[in-house]
Amino acid sequence: MQSAGGKVARRAPSVNAAKRWLPIALWLCAGLAVAEPRAPVPGALGPEERVLDNLLRADVGRPVEQRLAHIDALRADPRWAGPGWQALLAVERCAAAPDGSPGVLAALESRSGRDADPQTRVAVLKCRQWAADHRGDPSDNYRWAREAWGVLDELKLSSLAFRVARDYADEASYAGALDEALIAVSRALEIARGAGDALREADALTTLALIQSELGRHDDALRNSDRALELDPAIERSDEKLLARSALQIKARRYDAALLTLRQALELADREGDQESVLAIRINLAAVYHHTGRATENLALTAALLPEAQRLDIQYLKPYVYIARAFALADAGQVQAGSEMFERGRDWFERGGEVNQMADSLHDWARVLARWGRWEQAYAASAHAAELHERTQREAREKNANFLAAVLESGRKDLDIERLRHQGETARLQLEAERLTQRTWVVVGIAVLLSTASLLFVHLRLRRANHQLRAANVALDYESTHDPLTRAYNRRYFERLFEQRRGRGQGRVLLVLLDIDHFKAINDRHGHACGDRVLLESSQRLAHCVRSADRVVRWGGEEFLVFVDEPANAEAERCLVLRLLEAVAAAPFELRGVPVGVTVSIGFGSFELAPGFDLDLALADVDAMLYRAKRSGRHRAIGRLHGAAEPVLLLPTPPAASVTTLSA
Ligand code: GH3
Ligand code: MG
Ligand code: MG
Repeated sequence: MQSAGGKVARRAPSVNAAKRWLPIALWLCAGLAVAEPRAPVPGALGPEERVLDNLLRADVGRPVEQRLAHIDALRADPRWAGPGWQALLAVERCAAAPDGSPGVLAALESRSGRDADPQTRVAVLKCRQWAADHRGDPSDNYRWAREAWGVLDELKLSSLAFRVARDYADEASYAGALDEALIAVSRALEIARGAGDALREADALTTLALIQSELGRHDDALRNSDRALELDPAIERSDEKLLARSALQIKARRYDAALLTLRQALELADREGDQESVLAIRINLAAVYHHTGRATENLALTAALLPEAQRLDIQYLKPYVYIARAFALADAGQVQAGSEMFERGRDWFERGGEVNQMADSLHDWARVLARWGRWEQAYAASAHAAELHERTQREAREKNANFLAAVLESGRKDLDIERLRHQGETARLQLEAERLTQRTWVVVGIAVLLSTASLLFVHLRLRRANHQLRAANVALDYESTHDPLTRAYNRRYFERLFEQRRGRGQGRVLLVLLDIDHFKAINDRHGHACGDRVLLESSQRLAHCVRSADRVVRWGGEEFLVFVDEPANAEAERCLVLRLLEAVAAAPFELRGVPVGVTVSIGFGSFELAPGFDLDLALADVDAMLYRAKRSGRHRAIGRLHGAAEPVLLLPTPPAASVTTLSA
């Protein structure tokens, strides 16, 4: 990150630093690259895969425990019992769980022999990879991602194949194997396009842009970042993402474009009242002003930044403000005042141990001093910059060596296993080991020549932006399919779901319509807010007693519809309706400390999805049954069970559940 010539990124969470220090590498020594698998890419997501994909996507923004519980429910659901689905769900669980789900991994390992299906084999490798990721082991992380990549061609599930290719691109680029990263990301792109999945395509393009930025191919990086934006316009609605984009533009010396992006970001951040972003954006603006000779504007801008940084007291941004101010002063000819300001920034950077930033700033500062004929100071700054560069590179070298030693070590472990399997191949394996050693030294050698400082921050920033982008999409998807008060599904979702169900052909569905009894009285006695609480808690109680594939929909004010696809038989239907009937009444609701009993009445019907099935007629029938339940005393269910022509009355226990046939 350069202070005058670069861009600001907010303090990123500490990441596995060892990963980050290999900027370019093995694509320079093409002979050492992994042989890339080639086969037809999996095509579009099948209808079932899409359903599961949507279920999982809808979860991403939620708290971890909820996500894990949902994934476990899906794993236990007979609909997803096939080995492919189980493998996909296991990978999701390992990726989501903070501990990498050792139990899931152990279970997978136990059934992952050579004859296991490819999905299961990949799941084992991905779960091992996540375990390595969670314990912060970059070399194993890379190793398992790479092995999973080796199985890619055998995968049938497009979402799993995408994950394998995209993750490998990420891991390979951290490991500095940018040639491999490029191959993997282009494969990920093919898969996303084959599946017609614009969000995944934007995701892969963002990874591609990062790799290209690391390769110094700024124009290509920008072009791909543009394409990602076209595919996923949500990027343009986020000041943070725009800030990250401006960093790419500044690196590519596209100052005009950066200016436009920054203005747009500023407008958004202003509107959202995100003061930290506003400050960061304006610091980047100052960098653009410096590079484009707008000395007067820069002077005014940076003068306003100083008190702002003090007021907000965001520590990591302060040195950038001082340095930006220093450049603005010097550009305007106030070299002495600029030098004082520069020293303040330098002091902060040094106290924070941020050697890279300091080195870059000093380098630019030396040029400014030279412009004003301060040769001696310029020389000192330049010498200091060189010394700091030398220090960062030495540290990078050490990190590279450690990292690659670890890669080499895990490579050797593999080779040992291979040796046991194929006794006769010793010579080839030794050659392989030598190549790995050679690779270590080549990379270490190349790393000496490269400065990695600023790339680190662009990458971190864009990674974070990409994650946020995914989360934002998931949140949007959730909002459009759920009722905000009760968090049950909404009617629009149900209508879409039912159309999809109808599209899959014949079968049976159970529709259960519930209406809270005397709900108006709850509102009247305890207030509307308590009424809302009863609605939310009722929705949760209902959701707890259905399977994960069943859907609880908020149908109207205090009405819920439960949709069950393929109920097993009349007995299963009867049990479910009784469970629903009792779920709300089971325990009183605590309303401002007062326990209040709440009951529901139910109308239901089990319907054959024959050709010409009319959903409106079915719903009208269920509604009529509900009306009968209300009229005949409430807290009861009336409806037609599987195959029965006559409606039955179901009463809650106690008294003991009883079934009575009613006349029509
Ligand atoms: P019944 O047993 O016959 O169903 O009687 P009821 O009082 O439950 O039914 P009624 O249709 O008379 O009243 C429903 C009430 O639900 C009226 C409406 O103000 C209230 N309501 C609808 N939506 C909401 C909501 O989102 N929050 C709250 N607190 N009340 C709501
Ligand atoms: Mg009602
Ligand atoms: Mg009611």
